Amino acid sequence: MNKLTVHDVSFAGKRVLVRVDFNVPLKNGVISDDTRIRAAIPTLEYILKQSPKAIILLSHLGRPKAAGDADTSLAPIAPALAQLIGVEVAFATDCVGEPAETAVANLPEGGIIILENTRYHKGEEKNDPELASQMAKLGDIFVNDAFGTAHRAHASNVGLSQHLTAVAGLLMEREIDYLANAIEKPARPFIAILGGAKVSDKILVIEALLSKVDKLLIGGGMANTFFAALGYEMGDSLVEKDAIETAKILIEKGSDKLVLPVDGIIADKFDNDAEKRTITVSEGVPSGWRILDIGNKTLEHFEDLLTTAKTVVWNGPMGVFEMPSFSGGTFGVAEKLASITATGAVTIIGGGDSAAAAEQSGLADKMTHISTGGGASLEMLEGKELPGVLALADK
Ligand code: AMP
Repeated sequence: MNKLTVHDVSFAGKRVLVRVDFNVPLKNGVISDDTRIRAAIPTLEYILKQSPKAIILLSHLGRPKAAGDADTSLAPIAPALAQLIGVEVAFATDCVGEPAETAVANLPEGGIIILENTRYHKGEEKNDPELASQMAKLGDIFVNDAFGTAHRAHASNVGLSQHLTAVAGLLMEREIDYLANAIEKPARPFIAILGGAKVSDKILVIEALLSKVDKLLIGGGMANTFFAALGYEMGDSLVEKDAIETAKILIEKGSDKLVLPVDGIIADKFDNDAEKRTITVSEGVPSGWRILDIGNKTLEHFEDLLTTAKTVVWNGPMGVFEMPSFSGGTFGVAEKLASITATGAVTIIGGGDSAAAAEQSGLADKMTHISTGGGASLEMLEGKELPGVLALADK
């Protein structure tokens, strides 16, 4: 990486501002998945070992409209982090101003504090320079470890980088290394698997990947729009009419690389207990039915192609995996990826639903890398430079 990381600077005696991604699912103060908190621990432990004066943590949580919106306070994260890291963690009721400044000043030597949700300030998402300069007053050096928001230019990442020396944390470094390596110098064959609901969200990534991969496997609801482009009846399946023309162009462009499902599991209603059967997609889907998963022939074909792959990037489920009746394709792909990882392939799972599917399948730790940032990892795969990364100090 051509940017400074925590390895390039010293933290001894400094107040270290760290932008973390503690955007965890929270309901009534209960954290249902602490993956993102755990993902920040290596960076925090790395800094702690150097005897900093203080570690001051900034994060957003959810999409609050105003300060104090339900389930968007970072207060419950402090005890959760304290338990994971084994050190007391203080909390300040604001991320800038008197509450933050006093709480930071009152910290014991080497203490850790979490500041309240950065998005309680309107200026955060506008990258307001005044808000960034108030945040910057709290620290001597800035570590950005929030890969999940690196595709956004906000005050607590890009803004802060303009005031303090900004370096990548260990998680940020790892995310960038895996994703950049995969697209810049992948071991081949390099296969991408894309799924999920909408093709419109992923047109740019499909275009970018077509010039890089050896095969691009498409599954999930987004395949339906390609089928419609081929003239197949889709019944009540999810189809994006506005994207059909684009799908036609992508099919032409990607004729030697794009691999579409050959069969699908259809259901007579959008329900786990629906009646279901397998169809060949070229036969079409009867009215009143919809495709909710890839079929077995497709899964077998995908597995065959993946057997020899040396690099795989996966973003988006193969079906409605939240319903056990339609999770076979998604979990089947997860199992195949776990098995090729064991024999030396590099497997990278984009954030969001495919990361959740890998977790649910119990195979998460069998993959090479699971990204903590859905949107950010997609933008990297699109070949975009992320503003939060660009703003880090050059090596
Ligand atoms: P995305 O956020 O675009 O990655 O989409 C993820 C969502 O796509 C998941 O909630 C899946 O349930 C949904 N999905 C996957 N396949 C289908 C399908 N065939 N029909 C409807 N929804 C689907």
